[in-house]
Amino acid sequence: MVDETRVHSARRYNYWLGGKDNFAVDRESGDQIAAVFPTIRVTARENRGFLRRAVTHLTAEAGIRQFLDIGTGLPTADNTHEVAQRLAGEARVVYVDNDPMVLAHARALLTSTPEGRTAYLEADLREPEKILADPAVRDVLDFDRPIALMLIAVLHFIDDTDEARRIVRTLLDALPAGSYLVLSHGTSDYADAETHARFAAMATRGAIDAWPRTRDEVRSLVDGLDLLEPGIAPVNEWRAEGEAGPRPTAAEVAVYGLVARKP
Ligand code: SAH
Repeated sequence: MVDETRVHSARRYNYWLGGKDNFAVDRESGDQIAAVFPTIRVTARENRGFLRRAVTHLTAEAGIRQFLDIGTGLPTADNTHEVAQRLAGEARVVYVDNDPMVLAHARALLTSTPEGRTAYLEADLREPEKILADPAVRDVLDFDRPIALMLIAVLHFIDDTDEARRIVRTLLDALPAGSYLVLSHGTSDYADAETHARFAAMATRGAIDAWPRTRDEVRSLVDGLDLLEPGIAPVNEWRAEGEAGPRPTAAEVAVYGLVARKP
């Protein structure tokens, strides 16, 4: 059921991206966060740019044809299958989100090329075993061939770092060698003292539902994987040489991105 009275992160993110699939509560929460962190809309756009560049790299350069995109968000421009299938029509994508609003809009994610495939599954990242065992996932993805696991701007909704680590490990353990992880994650590493204090005040009020992590914490999530160049970088800098300027700073964006290979 879509609940119009409770904030949903997918709808709030859609609001920041300039979309129309959001309600008053989402816009209020989005504006409150923007009051503390005024560049949040830039953050959302840059995060999508990272998604596009990472999927482009994996499809065009690494030969990846399968994607498991958990925490998909509401459909927007350049959804994962559109980016991948533009380069390789046979690419397959399974989308997973736990927000009923995303399910309601999933048709826009299921516009596969005839030779490729897409599927949508309503499930929770906190139950990775369930996702892995789901017949739709097993039907669309071949677990004997490399898969790119995408956790883009979703893991920071898991507040406990041990739990986040367990989730990543469980998912990656199920994938063959040569698979990839694409991760983006909010960070407070670039925040000044005033922003730290304002966020802390919001957290005390219960107005925060995402938990930024430090670079070392993010690194601990991907332990044992081989990081592709340039390693853990602000998403706005990750292989962004081709992006037209003027470019935002790491502090304005405050999200780390990485692509890593399972050896
Ligand atoms: N990956 C997209 C959307 C990010 S917004 C992008 O980067 O553009 C975060 C998304 O994660 C939202 O759609 C929200 O509904 C989803 N999400 C948050 N917690 C989740 C959980 N525990 N399980 C599955 N999805 C979750």
